[in-house]
Amino acid sequence: MKTGRLLTPFVSPARGVADVPGSKSLTNRALICAGLADGTSVIENFLMADDTGAMIAALQNLGVSVIAHENGRSLQVAGLSGPPDVSNVSINARLSGTTSRFIVPAVAVGRGKFTISGEAPLMRRPFHDQIVALRSLGANITELGAVDCLPLEVDANGLDGGTIYVNAEKSSQFASGLLMAAPLMKNGLTLHLEGAVVSRPYIALTLEVMRKFGAEILNPVDGTYVVSPTGYQSAIYRVEPDASAASYMFAAAAITGGRVRVNGLSRSSKQGDIKFVDVLEDLGATVNSGDTFLEVVGGSLSGGKFDLNDFSDTAQTLAAVAAFASAPIEIEGIGFIKAKETDRIEAMATELARCGVAVHQSQNGMVINPNQWALRSAQVETYDDHRMAMSMSLLSLRVSGIEIIDPECVDKTFPKFFEVLESLRDTKDFSSETTPVIAIDGPAGAGKSTIAKLLAEHLGVPHFDTGAMYRAVTLACLDAGLDVGNIEAVALLAEKIEITVGSRVQVDGVDVSERIRGIEVGQNVSAVAANSLVRKILVERQRRWAIEAGGGVMEGRDIGTAVFPDAALKIFLTATVDVRAKRRFGESSDQSLGQVKKEILARDETDSSRQDSPLRIAANAVIVDTSNSTIAETVELLGMLFRSEVSQ
Ligand code: C5P
Repeated sequence: MKTGRLLTPFVSPARGVADVPGSKSLTNRALICAGLADGTSVIENFLMADDTGAMIAALQNLGVSVIAHENGRSLQVAGLSGPPDVSNVSINARLSGTTSRFIVPAVAVGRGKFTISGEAPLMRRPFHDQIVALRSLGANITELGAVDCLPLEVDANGLDGGTIYVNAEKSSQFASGLLMAAPLMKNGLTLHLEGAVVSRPYIALTLEVMRKFGAEILNPVDGTYVVSPTGYQSAIYRVEPDASAASYMFAAAAITGGRVRVNGLSRSSKQGDIKFVDVLEDLGATVNSGDTFLEVVGGSLSGGKFDLNDFSDTAQTLAAVAAFASAPIEIEGIGFIKAKETDRIEAMATELARCGVAVHQSQNGMVINPNQWALRSAQVETYDDHRMAMSMSLLSLRVSGIEIIDPECVDKTFPKFFEVLESLRDTKDFSSETTPVIAIDGPAGAGKSTIAKLLAEHLGVPHFDTGAMYRAVTLACLDAGLDVGNIEAVALLAEKIEITVGSRVQVDGVDVSERIRGIEVGQNVSAVAANSLVRKILVERQRRWAIEAGGGVMEGRDIGTAVFPDAALKIFLTATVDVRAKRRFGESSDQSLGQVKKEILARDETDSSRQDSPLRIAANAVIVDTSNSTIAETVELLGMLFRSEVSQ
């Protein structure tokens, strides 16, 4: 069995300032411009990760001197003062799409023979539209392997430039690469975008960086860019935090109802992925923005339909957030992300399904149909895709047992991802609170009673079984021959009887521990529990009970939502229906497994659809799936969460 990084849920809302690294897109664009510029540039707050490492190595191969400042946050780049002029240089773009797509035009405007290759996944990504455009400008390019793919050989002898049409239906990186090489073409370049352009904001980003390094670009009509043959001038350039990387931190706030800020970003950033916060706002989060910061405050999340064509790198983040929304979320306009690091739609649908989230895929996107009850612990595959690892990690904020396979793939753009996410954990020592209550809710058969009892023992605190109270009232009704549907009469009886719940359960001094577990009580208890007057009486007693005892582990259906909504730790214990039925079947053999399952489903339905205090997952409750874990493992996990310890 594979092992990965097992993540520990957040028991409190995410809080803090997230130290998000510099933008990959801006770093790699600034590196290209600085590398071709006249003079020495300084790139501050650059991203040091696999993709930018690939670009730095590529430029160094071309003769550019790149030195990191000792503070590790800025780079000094001595440019070539023009296009590269070297012979027989081999460049490995590793897994980096931007490096390969920016370097090919940059060497095509130079002189010499260049081979550009990469790791296997990059070699599978399409290059057709760029090869066609460069050939139309007279570049001499040979595919050394498969047609339209890396590795490519460029036999360069400068380019005159002129006018080209670039299809940007699959990626805007081709157009960006050509634009950045354009100031070094003899006559400059007029570039017309063709087709339905994807990720359009990245073009604006490219132009912004080029201008910072002295390029002159006119944009007479939408989709047409006229670049003058000015070359580049050195500059001091500060890279903004990466908006795509920031999306995970903002999502953490949205999912947990927390508050997360990223400094150095604002809503007016040219990074397309900044629009992700608009989506969060539409879903119900609050976005606060200043000139130099952006902050998201989580609220309850609704559903909706969103076109992410312009900011598709956050589609996976949104799909993960959708798992916690109250209604379906449809993401459209992103068919082209099937050709990214992996087929991101297929990968996301597969991995969300493993975690119990239903996803419907379409040619152009996906629809996520959330059902928090179905959320499960799972080992999550990441397909060599950093965004798979980062987005799927978000599920772990609320769901226990999410294990990320090959977590180091985050190194591609966000090497410190797990540390930064962890820095948002609000650690509290619950045991020091005056009346720490651990609220355990969940459907029948999830293991609440056994686990709550053992957890209380493990922590040395009292255990409160609130279900026994509802059962005791039900038994008293049946004994008195009362119709359980008679609201007032049942409430009067509940008011009158004295119920003691400890290791034994007594009604007016008589031990009913065994009788309250009988079939007849089981069949009638939901009706009694749906009686608002009865609930009022019992909830009041339950509150008093825990406060007088100084806290403890309380289990039921509405502890985290109604009895103690401010409980120190809220747990929603669950398991698949089949597992729950098997457990109940094991406890009593009076009914068949099929009957037990039917009864459990019926009980889920009444408990979750009743008007008063229906069984719901409380805000901030950690969803703990016990389907594949032993009782001891679950008890240990809950103890760990209570002590705010983190696994590993
Ligand atoms: O936990 P147990 O299965 O013994 O609870 C019996 C029934 O009591 C549940 O099916 C539910 O209808 C009700 N109950 C409730 N609120 C609680 C605890 C139990 O409605 N806090």
